[in-house]
Amino acid sequence: MGIESPNCAYCKLKPCSREPEAPKPEFCPMLIYPGVIKEAVSKYVGFTKEVHRVASLVEKEGYCVWPRLREVVEFAKRLNIRKLGVAFCIGLSNEAEFIVKYLEGKGFKVYSVCCKCGGIDKTVIGLREEDKLRPGTHESICNPITQAELLNHVGTELNIVVGLCVGHDTLFMMYSKAPVTYLIAKDRVTGHNPAAAIYVQNYFKTRL
Ligand code: SF4
Repeated sequence: MGIESPNCAYCKLKPCSREPEAPKPEFCPMLIYPGVIKEAVSKYVGFTKEVHRVASLVEKEGYCVWPRLREVVEFAKRLNIRKLGVAFCIGLSNEAEFIVKYLEGKGFKVYSVCCKCGGIDKTVIGLREEDKLRPGTHESICNPITQAELLNHVGTELNIVVGLCVGHDTLFMMYSKAPVTYLIAKDRVTGHNPAAAIYVQNYFKTRL
């Protein structure tokens, strides 16, 4: 069975990167969906275009030198952003405190919201007592919509995800009015380095 487009992961040479006129695989979306690509490119206008331009400049200037923490600062500064939001997991409270102080030290106004804000018990969203980590006790839900709405309320201009759970991060991004960037992708098993499970598959194969 052929490869259904788009599925660039199966393209070995990726000529779109440096030689867009070179032969491409039959499933290449540049051959199959040129209209979609044209329409998408037409959307780089105004602030969207500026976000892209600035991101590309930061990529070049700090290439393989600046850690992502610094890249976020440089990105926000070049967009003249003053108010940052940090949506963090309670399990990364120390990291969140460090990040907020670091960003404040760089001159930003920073707001932060912990995932447990609201103190809503897990049963409120339909989980049973036995679904809790410790049944019979109060366990607050992660509350990503509240995190987003609080940051929306104070008018942050860029929100930063620090260790939100898979899926809770999805809800946060769905409800955040400000654009979102990631600083830490939660992965409890790898020290928040999800790529480790790919780079050292021998150690992870029974758990993948
Ligand atoms: S050449 Fe086409 S199929 Fe290959 S990576 Fe680029 S867009 Fe995808």
